[in-house]
Amino acid sequence: MSARTFFTTGKKIVAIGRNFSEHAKELGNTVPTSPFFFLKPTSSYLANGGTIEIPPGCEVHHEIELAVVIGKEACDCPASEAMEHVAGYALAIDCTARNLQNEAKKKGLPWSTAKGFDTFSPISEFIPKDNFADVQDVDLWLKVNGQIRQQGNTRDMIFNVPSLIEYISSIMKLEVGDVVMTGTPSGVGALKAGDMVTAGMKPGNAEKDIVSLNFNVAVRSNGLFKAD
Ligand code: MG
Repeated sequence: MSARTFFTTGKKIVAIGRNFSEHAKELGNTVPTSPFFFLKPTSSYLANGGTIEIPPGCEVHHEIELAVVIGKEACDCPASEAMEHVAGYALAIDCTARNLQNEAKKKGLPWSTAKGFDTFSPISEFIPKDNFADVQDVDLWLKVNGQIRQQGNTRDMIFNVPSLIEYISSIMKLEVGDVVMTGTPSGVGALKAGDMVTAGMKPGNAEKDIVSLNFNVAVRSNGLFKAD
């Protein structure tokens, strides 16, 4: 089994919330003092070139994030050893039905609905870790219709990749092919039908992007779901 096929082998997506202080503030949240995460279903993966579907009645936000692909099982893994368990990376968008998430927050309900719709985890191909000299110096960007919405660097993470792996693996083991979405920089915003979403990432020492993503946006039609 190879982490290269994480789309099919991974059992879970662990998504970190509020890992960039400017993003925490833009949504009116406090900056966390310890990591927190939620799970997304792997059925929400969307390969590059696909169409992000907006469920009727949902305000869907884009959140561009560095995704860490696990290559070796990590269970109670100290931060000092965490990078040995990383096979590589991908660039992902943690799509979020913000209105449903805000309702869930108010009611104290989980975020599974807001985060888990089909197509809500657009993601690039696997990129081996050798392409990254320093995972805490990676530029990420996302544009909608050619206009820049998000631009950040992983050096601004509150909790770095090794400490995230230590924290998650102290609770649940990370298995080969599992993905950790590491949180989004500021600039999140709504998508609408007809939008074209492009995104890229570049190691800080590289001349140009090593991955580029391209997605259409459409309303989800003929589905059973309707927002209240
Ligand atoms: Mg996110």
